[in-house]
Amino acid sequence: MYPTQYKRPSSLEEAVALLADMPEARPVAGGQSLIAAMKLRFAVPSAVIDLGHLPGLSSIEVGTDEVVIGAMVRHAAVASSPELAATVPALCALAAGIGDRQVRNMGTMGGSVANNDPAADYPAAVLAMNGVVNTNLRSIAADDFFLGIYETALEPGELITSIVYKVPRRAAYIKFKNPASRFALVGLFLADYGSSVRMAVTGAGAGVFRLVDMESALGANFVPEALDGIPVPPDRLSSDIHASAEYRAHLITVMAKRAVQVAIVGQTGPAGEWAPISSGNEQP
Ligand SMILES: Cc1cc2nc3c(=O)[nH]c(=O)nc-3n(C[C@H](O)[C@H](O)[C@H](O)COP(=O)(O)OP(=O)(O)OC[C@H]3O[C@@H](n4cnc5c(N)ncnc54)[C@H](O)[C@@H]3O)c2cc1C
Repeated sequence: MYPTQYKRPSSLEEAVALLADMPEARPVAGGQSLIAAMKLRFAVPSAVIDLGHLPGLSSIEVGTDEVVIGAMVRHAAVASSPELAATVPALCALAAGIGDRQVRNMGTMGGSVANNDPAADYPAAVLAMNGVVNTNLRSIAADDFFLGIYETALEPGELITSIVYKVPRRAAYIKFKNPASRFALVGLFLADYGSSVRMAVTGAGAGVFRLVDMESALGANFVPEALDGIPVPPDRLSSDIHASAEYRAHLITVMAKRAVQVAIVGQTGPAGEWAPISSGNEQP
């Protein structure tokens, strides 16, 4: 065992001050990644600063052009929001396809984005929907936020307060789940803004990335066939016991075409249900 303190601030200012006073402390949101990392000794914070009781971080504001989601909003709340379902159903589908019920009831959007697991689902949505990550200090464009495996533009002690998404005309999130972990073997978020298209991939490499050639092709002609012949080089993709880089590259093309179809007809149900692999013991 090692000693770890638990701190329960009641305001954002208090949380920020605690983190400034204790450089080895870490904020904890739902604990779905941090506690596991502590159990494995990948993280050994001197204190955990609980963000769960801070006011103002748990709202979902749905506007015509933008959606603003507080850092402490749980995945289950995103999945079940009727306002979001009417505006960006692909985001609800993404949230509904994360992990299992416990993870969705405890895990938060801010925690997921701050953690930047290379197979996490939300980073694909943030990047594809031209998102902005608001912190206690500044606003960071998605294109500048995700830097690499578990690496972001956040400074030590900086806290995410909310994420802003630009509302697309239509969108889709397609996830090919690892049947054991339910993380994305490949996850692909497609957002069509009429004059432009953005598409981001998670799970396939060392962090989320955009497919700019496919975005241009779909911007000119929003049909699956527009993606024919656009190469997805496997060189920078991950190879592991679950899938080779070549297989992930193949999946990206197949899933990008599927995403176009889903965006055209409208997304319903949790992302990942279409995946043709099954462990046979999937939990709801
Ligand atoms: C069994 C299991 C299955 C899962 N499956 C999936 C999946 O399919 N897809 C997926 O995307 N994710 C999955 N997850 C991860 C899940 O989505 C968690 O929500 C996510 O890891 C973040 O957890 P959390 O919100 O509890 O944050 P925590 O674990 O509390 O924190 C994670 C990290 O973010 C930091 N942090 C938290 N909040 C903030 C903030 N506001 N500002 C700055 N830093 C902050 C913490 O210090 C820590 O470093 C799974 C997790 C488990 C345990």
